[in-house]
Amino acid sequence: MKIIDLITKDTLSLSFEVFPPKTESSFESVKTATEEIAKLKPSFMSVTYGAGGGTSKYTLDIAKNIKELYGVPTLAHLTCVSSTKETVQQKIKEIKEAGIENVMALRGDIPQELEGVDRSGWDYQYAADLISELKDINADFCIGCACYPEIHPESANQKEDIKHLKEKVDAGCDFITTQMFFDNNLLYNFLYKIREAGITVPVIPGIMPITNANQVERAIKLSGSFMPQRFKSLVDKFGSNPAAMKQAGIAYATDQIIDLYANNITNVHVYSMNKPDVAAKIQSNLSDILGK
Ligand code: FAD
Repeated sequence: MKIIDLITKDTLSLSFEVFPPKTESSFESVKTATEEIAKLKPSFMSVTYGAGGGTSKYTLDIAKNIKELYGVPTLAHLTCVSSTKETVQQKIKEIKEAGIENVMALRGDIPQELEGVDRSGWDYQYAADLISELKDINADFCIGCACYPEIHPESANQKEDIKHLKEKVDAGCDFITTQMFFDNNLLYNFLYKIREAGITVPVIPGIMPITNANQVERAIKLSGSFMPQRFKSLVDKFGSNPAAMKQAGIAYATDQIIDLYANNITNVHVYSMNKPDVAAKIQSNLSDILGK
């Protein structure tokens, strides 16, 4: 099933993100965790590619397993930077053969050891190159891309960032998922600006439930997200009490989702990070709203 056909207009729906294992020895535990999340019957699940501690090797195994065992539509992430055309084309072929209809087309982060090198000869410069390639091969994928309500860290300014986002949409991207954010007003402001810039495809906001104090620093480093005072106070108060921090972090994320829905945003992606208990708690907090 294509994500673009799952996007609801009236009722709230949640999707969850998981990441593949780092090593073969952790494959079974990750597989079990992702299956527990699939049992919640989200609208779809995305499986990252070499991000969040996983590797690219198992993305398809995890995505295929969830789809085949639980019938949950999956979105396979794929990055292209510092990869050859041959490698990327092989991956695209494997995604197709696995019966996965949705691809999140990403550039990926520049590996630290390659920062500052001349990239002009690389097969892929930006995610838009991968999107064009996915369209050219005519494989009928539903294509997603990433956006950054608080600007991608490499961008000079938001105008430039939105210009490049439009290039991805013009290249054939069907929907956009946002980087995490902790202040919904930043998203509303961003949506206004991208609609003004002529970007009309659906945008799925990404919400990251912060469930322990250590995650805060990592999340900020990864995303550059602004932490509102309300969130900082929560970490100050509960950061040293893991159970309380988890409860408060889940409540904060739930609250963000309720506010998004109250503002007519019906599809929300939860960065559930292989934590079935967190995904289940968010879903149960919203049970009456979700009607399940
Ligand atoms: P791009 O869209 O190519 O943009 C990268 C930068 O280049 C931006 O600053 C953009 O403004 C600029 N740019 C774009 N086009 C041009 C141009 N023509 N000229 C000049 N500048 C340009 N990482 C992973 O490794 N694996 C994952 O699975 C993964 N999943 C993600 C999912 C989501 C929803 C998000 C938000 C991020 C994810 N990432 C993942 C992180 C992502 O790979 C990094 O943020 C990466 O640095 C940028 O990828 P991109 O696809 O957004 O790049």
